[in-house]
Parts: sequence; C-alpha cells; structure tokens
Amino acid sequence: MTTATDQTESRRLAVLRRDSQADGHFVYAVLSTGIFCRPSCPSRRPRPDNLRLFDTPQEAIRAGYRPCLRCHPLDDTNPSAATVITLCRHIERSDSTPSLSELAALAGWSRHHLQRRFKALTGVTPYQYFQAIRRRRLGKTLREPGSVTRAFLDAGFASGGHGYQHADRLIGMSPGSYKARGKGETLHFAIGECSLGQVLVASSERGVCAINLGDDPQQLLHELEERFANATLIPGDGPFNETVATVIGLIESPGTSPTLPLDIRGTAFQQQVWQALLAIPAGTTLSYQALAERIGKPGAARAVASACAANTLAVAIPCHRIVRNDGGLSGYRWGVERKRALLEREAH
Ligand SMILES: [Zn+2]
Repeated sequence: MTTATDQTESRRLAVLRRDSQADGHFVYAVLSTGIFCRPSCPSRRPRPDNLRLFDTPQEAIRAGYRPCLRCHPLDDTNPSAATVITLCRHIERSDSTPSLSELAALAGWSRHHLQRRFKALTGVTPYQYFQAIRRRRLGKTLREPGSVTRAFLDAGFASGGHGYQHADRLIGMSPGSYKARGKGETLHFAIGECSLGQVLVASSERGVCAINLGDDPQQLLHELEERFANATLIPGDGPFNETVATVIGLIESPGTSPTLPLDIRGTAFQQQVWQALLAIPAGTTLSYQALAERIGKPGAARAVASACAANTLAVAIPCHRIVRNDGGLSGYRWGVERKRALLEREAH
C-alpha cells in the first residue's frame, strides 16, 4: 500500500532526478517563479520549500501556476499545446483579460475553437486562467509588507474612480475592536463572483467575520482593509475556497442554512438584534418595529434599524428579511436590488 506521504516523497525524488518516467503522472510547480513543469524539465531544481506537487497540469493552473516554456507540461500529444502555451503567455502579460477575439486572432483560430481548445488543455477558460494567475500574484505580493490595496492593484486589478464611503462600513465592530481594527489577528479573505455581483468573504480563526457584496472587487477589498486595518490579511488558499463556495451557495439559495461558523462582532445591542435576525425563517419578513418588540424593546425601532444597517455579514445574518412597517422594501446596505433578489429567491 502506498500512503500519501510515500507518494509525495517519491515524487519529490523523481523531480530531483529529473525522472522522465514520471512525466505524465504529475507536475511540479515552483512557488517563487509561479511556473509548473514536468518532472524531467531541464530547468534548475527548485529549493525543497518552494516545490509544490500537483496530480495534473489543470490543477496547477487552477492554483495560478503558468506552464513552463521549456518542458511544455501540457499534453504535448495534443497538436494545439504549443499554441495554447503561447496564449497563456499572452494572458499572463496582460493587465486586463484579453478579449476572445484578440486571443483568437493571435492563435489563428475561430473564437469557438479557441475556447474549446484552450479549455481542453488547461481545464479553464482564458478568463479563468487570467483570474487564477492574478489571484496567485496577489497572494505572492501580500507576503511582502505593504498595503493590501497596493498589492491588489499590483496584482492587476484595475483601479476605479470610486469614492469610498468608509464611515458607515466600520460600525459593525464593538468600540474596542473598532479601535484595534483586528490588531494581532490574521484573517483570510477571498473575492468571488456570484449572481449578485462580487462577494468578499473574510474569516478569522473563529469563523466568517465579513461577507460584503458589491460591484467592484477593489472597493470590497479596500473596505476590508479599512475595517481591519491592523490585521494581517492573507488571500485564502484551497480550503478557504470551500468557505467561499458555501457563502456563494447561501447567496444563490438564501433559504438554506449551511454550516458556516460566524465570527459576529458588534456591541451587545447589535448582537442582540442580529441574533433575532437569525431567528427569522427564510421566506418571511418582519418590520423594524416587530423586530424591536421581539427583543423586548418596542421603543427602539430606530436603533434596531441602525443595528440592521451595521450588519457586516450579508445574507448569513439575514437583515434582508427586514422591511418597512408598511411592508415596503426599505434600504439595504448592499443595494435594494440585491435585497429584492434575495427575497424573491426565498419566496420560491
Ligand atoms: Zn519546465
């Protein structure tokens, strides 16, 4: 029987020996260069702590590694391999996603063929490839000191001319944590796409501490950076993607209740309001007044509304289930259209 550790060891050995027998069984990637290779690649051997192993080239690509130009680690029995690697290079050097037409012209293929052949070899679309590279670059930049936003921009996210509204984004923490802004903490975060736009998810050791919706990933990250200015922010890795997937699943089906540990931060009063929000069943709504009565503070409807607006865990704490006293749709921190969409999904 071969254990996983044995396999890792034998693969490491195969890389050291440039064992051509191992070609086609796995690929190795080099953390410092971002390139992946066949075991037999003639390039310099990586330092052991920089070596990463993947079962298939597609897995290395999804992790944001680029195929080596020397050893062509994509399936070289496929006649499109060389062209696809050229396209990969072109995408890697681009500041924004190249259009399909641009890539098709470069390859001399139709757009349809381009999509099909690219995906057949890499397992991803050109757009996903661009994103994977960008994510990895972001992770690399973030290990160096400096601003997260800077890293985000360096990693190729376009800078937008958006005005930021910080003040109202910061009130989800208790005064103490607000001041500390995550001091001494390490948070993992990732930005994904869902049907309501971009979603940023961040987690502390205790659980998910931020779910933020928006249109502009840069702005989402900027808000996270402001709120947790003293925390160490690290782009999420493989296991964290599952958390992000769970959150996206929750947004797509807001009536479900997945196991998602939450790190809820707020004043005692806010926590009380949010706990009451968690008790509202999907598919139903409640007015601010009714919520205030539920927590035994019928005179505090306005404060309840403020606490709802201070929620920093979109959808997971269902403040979208709160409506005006007359039943009309009131404001929503992440846009009233998103609120409408969420309520419609729950109604079915
Ligand atoms: Zn190579």
